[in-house]
Amino acid sequence: MRIAVVSLFPEAVEAVLAVGVTGRARREGLFSCCVYNPRAYAADSRGTVDDRPFGGGPGMVMMVAPLRGAVRAAKAALPLDSPVIFLSPQGRPFNQPLARELAALPGFVLVAARYEGVDERFVASEVDRELSIGDYVLSGGELPALVVIDAVARLLPSALGNPESALHESHVDGLLDCPQYTRPAEDASGSVPSVLRSGDHAAVARWRRKEALRRTWRRRPELLRSRELDAGDRALLTEALAEDETHQGNH
Ligand code: SAM
Repeated sequence: MRIAVVSLFPEAVEAVLAVGVTGRARREGLFSCCVYNPRAYAADSRGTVDDRPFGGGPGMVMMVAPLRGAVRAAKAALPLDSPVIFLSPQGRPFNQPLARELAALPGFVLVAARYEGVDERFVASEVDRELSIGDYVLSGGELPALVVIDAVARLLPSALGNPESALHESHVDGLLDCPQYTRPAEDASGSVPSVLRSGDHAAVARWRRKEALRRTWRRRPELLRSRELDAGDRALLTEALAEDETHQGNH
């Protein structure tokens, strides 16, 4: 997979991409990432990329030409039809299904803006889709671009040490992950649930599924409402909710 990032701060993108799962995946050639700085495509020798907004108001707006130059250079180095994705708080909310969708592409361009944003004509003429990483405003698109790259890179085949890891995580099948424990089994803050130490794999799997359903119901009930539970999951959730009621009744 080939990824390109358009950013005024290539060093910020490179620093984060160098570490952890993304760093290893990139070194092993699972994906490549080049950063294109719009300043290199500015019309003047000072590398001007922004100007005051028409109509007045605070801040600066990124100009079309330097962004277009950077995007076109990026696209020329990527597989044909690689989409141009603009990171924007006005975009479609990024989520795990979208990460899976992007992980299946041969390449894509991520545009990270700064200042008050970009001239709308750039979006209209060069951008295929807009993605937001949440309903808040950051000062630049580098962190959102890195969020997208991280979520996508860990889905690439053999990016994770154990490929099973990617199958048992929050949002993979619309549920939150179950609670996790490690040694010691006993601690001042409590004991690890005995079923996890039983060696009974079927019982462990059942417990994990039930706790994932319980946790999703408690923390993100809208996730359960937007999916169909099969009979087994419905029975486990009913059992978990009955336990919660009993527990509350005892307090
Ligand atoms: N004036 C813009 C608005 O209200 O929509 C916000 C501009 S913001 C200060 C600068 C840049 O940071 C944006 O153009 C975008 O590239 C990036 N950015 C900020 N928040 C973001 C978010 N939640 N998701 C994705 N990108 C974001």
